[in-house]
Amino acid sequence: MAFKSINPYNNKELASFPEHSTSEQEAMLKKADKTFAEWRTWSFADRAKVLNKAAALLLENLEKYAETISLEMGKPISESRAEVKKCAWVCEYYAENAETFLSPKSISTDAHESYVTYEPMGAILAIMPWNFPFWQVFRFAAPTLMAGNVGLLKHASNVLGSAKHIADIFLEAGAPEGAFQHLLVSHGSIETLLENDIVKAVTLTGSEKAGASVASLAGKNIKKSLLELGGSNAFVVLEDADIDKAIEIGVKARFMNTGQSCIAAKRFIVVEKVYDKFVEGFVKKVKALKSGDPMSDSSEIGVLAREDLADILAEQVDKSVEMGAKVLIGQKQKGAYYEPTVLTDISADMPVFKEETFGPVTPIIKVKDVKEAFEVAANTEFGLGISVFTQDLNQVKKYINLVPDGAFFVNDLVKSDPRLPFGGTKKSGYGRELSRDGMMEFVNVKTVYIQ
Ligand code: NDP
Repeated sequence: MAFKSINPYNNKELASFPEHSTSEQEAMLKKADKTFAEWRTWSFADRAKVLNKAAALLLENLEKYAETISLEMGKPISESRAEVKKCAWVCEYYAENAETFLSPKSISTDAHESYVTYEPMGAILAIMPWNFPFWQVFRFAAPTLMAGNVGLLKHASNVLGSAKHIADIFLEAGAPEGAFQHLLVSHGSIETLLENDIVKAVTLTGSEKAGASVASLAGKNIKKSLLELGGSNAFVVLEDADIDKAIEIGVKARFMNTGQSCIAAKRFIVVEKVYDKFVEGFVKKVKALKSGDPMSDSSEIGVLAREDLADILAEQVDKSVEMGAKVLIGQKQKGAYYEPTVLTDISADMPVFKEETFGPVTPIIKVKDVKEAFEVAANTEFGLGISVFTQDLNQVKKYINLVPDGAFFVNDLVKSDPRLPFGGTKKSGYGRELSRDGMMEFVNVKTVYIQ
């Protein structure tokens, strides 16, 4: 069987990648294991040289990588360039900080000497999605490799050109063959991979369904798993908010990556006093968004990564409209393109409220006051993050520990940053990526006690 990369903007085939046979997969696992024995002995400084070189290669070849991203999954080219730059940042960040994060910690006890070390685990399997085909992989790979682990990537089957570039980058940067390999396999092979003793842990970014399946396979094999799944972040606008700023950032928070981001704002909750002003300004800005060829510099909205994803979105919107949602703008689909859409008169049982909408669709909900705003925000199975727009920082701080999400942002959109932990609660998954916390997920925290 061969996997095909298809440009979702024009349905043209870009490339075809033959699947690795079972024996090829086994040989790659053996190579990962062998390389781990060597790679773990490299000093942090030597591993940092590889990561810094990878960062340099990303920047040198920015245009080539950005083009592959946009061609394979349809995001506007300007956003693909930004994605590649962010990958360089995360490589540099861990190159600089890994040694400090993982340096042994001395703890005084009644022993002569006691301390904790943070040691690599071995081969870590990463099952990654197509929405940020470079970033999702680099935010796993940079801390994992710096910790002395080796990486095995099973990328989404529609972005295998991106996967190849990434594997090539690490090789060219000087990582030993086997430190980072990408497996050309369908997700049906994951069970066998997780049963193999060489694979020590797994991380997955993707849908709830894929997450549940991988977590149960990991559990069966007593292996650690980390899940970064969907979200339905609330974007709350309180009556004292700077409305112009909330509109400007709200449009970015929802429409970036053509709406295909786990941390995108997906439920807009606006206090009634400022509701009309917010809705009017928001719709005006959405109307001005320029849809077009993802390869064009001026496009702000591209296409969804696959036509079936646009079909799912259309179904969610159409069903919500049947249930009473009002369309202020949008609701048109053409192939993988879905027009930026704004809906009002939303109830909590509609798909656009209850489910994750992975595309350019904005439901706006009117609430009485701050109390109701947080109640509506909490009415979700997901827990990635929340954005709140207000000038009253004392009031908003009282809500921080009442919201069970993985992130609470005030006056900005929820975003990932190498310096800050990233991850969710509830059906958004568990575990953290990025920062020191993310690096700790795939290390053996070893207690040393010498009497
Ligand atoms: P999937 O979750 O199916 O794909 C993500 C990754 O998981 C891919 O590498 C995929 O491989 C793999 N995968 C799929 N099913 C399984 C499984 N049973 N066991 C192990 N791995 C699996 O996402 P879709 O592409 O189907 O998108 C569907 C929805 O998922 C989106 O609309 C969105 O709601 C959510 N999603 C969330 C993302 C996030 O950032 N949190 C990212 C992507 C999707 P393969 O390509 O071979 O199927």
